[in-house]
Amino acid sequence: MKILVMGPPGAGKGSQSAKIVKSYNIPSISTGQMFREAYKNNESMGIEAMEYIKNGNLVSDQITNKIVKHRLHRYDTERSFLLDGYPRTVRQAVALDEMLENMGTKLDAVINILSSNDVLFERMENRRVCKKCGATYHLIFKKPSISGVCDLCSGELYQREDDTLESVKRRLEIYETKTKPLLDYYEKKGILYNINGMQPFDNVYADIELVLREL
Ligand SMILES: [Zn+2]
Repeated sequence: MKILVMGPPGAGKGSQSAKIVKSYNIPSISTGQMFREAYKNNESMGIEAMEYIKNGNLVSDQITNKIVKHRLHRYDTERSFLLDGYPRTVRQAVALDEMLENMGTKLDAVINILSSNDVLFERMENRRVCKKCGATYHLIFKKPSISGVCDLCSGELYQREDDTLESVKRRLEIYETKTKPLLDYYEKKGILYNINGMQPFDNVYADIELVLREL
């Protein structure tokens, strides 16, 4: 099962991906998380990437492709993986297809979570992320048991620096212009599955499972 989860920023990609990864026990490849880790470890690639992210911009194709390629070549991705947050441009998608082809494999499905801009703004304002394990919460719909503390690892919850209003607007704009064309790209390949993201978390997940079961 080699899949990609897409959707505008704030559509719930992260939490849905986390649940898929846990239920199916497959490795997750999240470029955002890899960049944040590299940044924490003071690696130059992480520092460079965080400059783009902080301003709500896409990290350059070159850096992004490099970090993904490196990750894909680890042994655990042979049978299955879930890509979260990559590719974000058609150029990255083409690069990914090339990487996979060279590895003798391909993507099985692209799960696209649909949502409206109003819902997205509201969600991102209320989103909190665990500093330690990366788990995501929503202050209304997916509240942690203890305020500010992660249920899973007791880590501290924080608001991501790219979840500010200005940055969110910018990310939505970029999504419209750069990421949306990807949907056509995958539709033409016949592997695009649209999921209604404007329903409760569990219902969205149930819809995703229907797709995954057919793979
Ligand atoms: Zn945690």
